[in-house]
Order: sequence, then C-alpha cells, then structure tokens
Amino acid sequence: MPPAAMIESDTALARLEVDLAAVVANWRALGVLHPGGPVAGVVKADAYGLGAAQVAPALHAAGCRHFFTAHLSEAVAIRALVPGAMVAVLNGIAPGSEGGFVAHDILPVLGTPGEIARWGGLARRLGRRLPALLHVDTGMNRLGLDGGEMADPNLLDGIELRYVMTHLVASEVAGDPMNAVQRDRFAAACAAFPTVPRSFANSSGMFLGAGYASDLARPGAALYGINPIPEQPNPMRPVVRLMARVLALRDVALGASVGYNSTWVAARPSRIATIGVGYADGWLRSHSGRGHAVFDGAPVPLVGRVSMDLTTFDATDRPGLREGDWLELIGPSRPVDDVAAAAGTNGYEVLTSLGRRYHRVWSS
Ligand SMILES: *Cc1c(COP(=O)(O)O)cnc(C)c1O
Repeated sequence: MPPAAMIESDTALARLEVDLAAVVANWRALGVLHPGGPVAGVVKADAYGLGAAQVAPALHAAGCRHFFTAHLSEAVAIRALVPGAMVAVLNGIAPGSEGGFVAHDILPVLGTPGEIARWGGLARRLGRRLPALLHVDTGMNRLGLDGGEMADPNLLDGIELRYVMTHLVASEVAGDPMNAVQRDRFAAACAAFPTVPRSFANSSGMFLGAGYASDLARPGAALYGINPIPEQPNPMRPVVRLMARVLALRDVALGASVGYNSTWVAARPSRIATIGVGYADGWLRSHSGRGHAVFDGAPVPLVGRVSMDLTTFDATDRPGLREGDWLELIGPSRPVDDVAAAAGTNGYEVLTSLGRRYHRVWSS
C-alpha cells in the first residue's frame, strides 16, 4: 500500500502550491524598500488563505519578529510558532476575550474607547501595565480613535503603548489625494505620543515614498505575490500556483450548449475540457464565461457557468491537451491579479477564498 500522502497527491483533482521561498524573498525585498524600521508579516485570514502555520514560521526563520492577525484565535494558532515575536490582533479585543490576550502573550490593537477602557481596567485589576497598539483613524472610519476621543488625558492609564498605527484608504492608487491627507493626519495624531514608535504602511503604502515609512511596516498582500502597485509591473515574486487536472475531454457539435442554463453555445464543433474545481473551492462563480486557464503557455478560455464542483474550458484550439493533463488556473503564467480582474474582484478575495479541497503543497 502506498502511503496516504501519495494516494492523495496521485488522485487529487487540483493542487495548490505555495512557494514559501518566494514569500520570504518578497519579505526581504520589502525590507530593502523600508530601511528605517522592521517589516512585519500580516498573516490574518490564514495568511491570506495560504497557510499561516507554514508562512509564519518561514518568515520567523528569515528574521521577521512582528506578526499581525485579525482574530485572537488566529494569533493563538501561530503564537508558539514564532517565539519571541510580537503577535498583534488588528480587530482588537472582542468583549470577554481580554484574558486570552494576557494568557497567550498577544497584543490587541485598540481601536475604540470601549476596548481601551476594558484593557485598562484589566491592567488595574492585575496591578500592572498591559501592552497594546493604538489604532488612530485618519480617514477609513471603521476602527481607530478620532481626535476628540484621543483628547481624554486619562485615556491610556495602565496601558503600555508599543505602537501608534493607522491604515491607508487608497494606497494602491499612488495619485489618490487621500494618501497625503492621511499622512498629515497621522503625523498630527502621533505628536501626542512623541516617544511611541509608529506603524503606518501596508503593502502598497510602502511604495508611496519616504513620507509613508515608519518604525514598523505592515505588508500582507505583497508577501503573497499580489501586485502592490497595480499601475506598474508587479515587482513581487509569484507565490501561488493552482493546477487542476482535466477530468474529461468531450467533443460537442455546433449549436450544443455547455453547463447550467446553456449560457455558452458552441459556435463551431468544439472540444470541452472539464476540471474538478468549482465555486465550492473558492473558484468564484463570477468567473463564469470569463478569463482562461493556461496550458503549455497558451490560454484555454473558460466557457459556461462555473458550478459547485466543476468548470469547463474551450480546448478546441489546444489539440495537444489530453485527459489527465493539468491546467494552470493561477500561477506564473496566470497572475493572481489577472485572475481577479477576470472575476471582477481583487487578488485579496481570490486568495482568501481558496478552498479546503485542494491538495496543498508548501515548498521552501
Ligand atoms: C490587512 C491589513 C494590512 C495589510 O494590508 P495589505 O494591503 O495586505 O498589505 C495592514 N494593516 C491593516 C490594519 C490591515 O487590516
């Protein structure tokens, strides 16, 4: 009997390869771009769907000492994998979870006065100062304190501030006037905390120039190969490769329809390739009738509806394609940003949607 892992890889309908060396190379490249302070790793949403349990230790081994998640549970899951590093939770403290932050040595990013009061209250009960980051709002209007809320002189009693941070609204659009507005508002807010280090840019913000540098950059997307400067060629290395096996090849006659609701009708005698990936795998239904996969360096157009477990392609012009061959859905020949554009979304949603049924392989 072959080992289970081999059975899985032999029979898998689709394979998701994550290149951890490329993640590390991207993190190092961002470090060169940000000489004034360290670069964190944002590993929320399971490292944008690519596996925080693999990505976080790889970054830690390369020297990364600051990690951000969105949920406490995500932070707890990586805590032991990144010894000595700061692990912080961007969404802050859900009511009742204060003890979990203390028990696991995880820092909250405080973004509302209520949270600050609860964290400070716990500090007083424990009789010691508790560490945290403070999120100040400079234009997003989601989380973060506004100027009026920060005016309270006793606001941070009992709290040891590690960083003051904010988050950019439109950093991927270099010419958006909000960037400079937020830069100036952040500088003004930080003046109230002259001794506290600052954390400013996400991936795209790191490319906006020296005015957006800080004591700690917080990239996520660029680590995973998403283009942080969409108006220019992608400077990051591709990280993800999603390959799907051709389950069936079928010749259809002129006028025959393919898939649910007959949304595609053959305008010539055609050959249809079917793969075992659908919207239940995070291969979004909005790909229906749009975009393509790549075989042997050439595009194979996606036709008809994406269904739950299957997607169909027009392989008529690829006579070399055989059942059992692999189509590239995402990868060096089919960048994640292009896939996203075809589905009317962004690379973040494409990656964080990636499903649980793929045979996942991490290479380093
Ligand atoms: C997700 C997130 C980041 C990382 O953003 P990218 O655009 O993926 O680099 C940084 N800061 C905050 C507050 C975030 O929510």
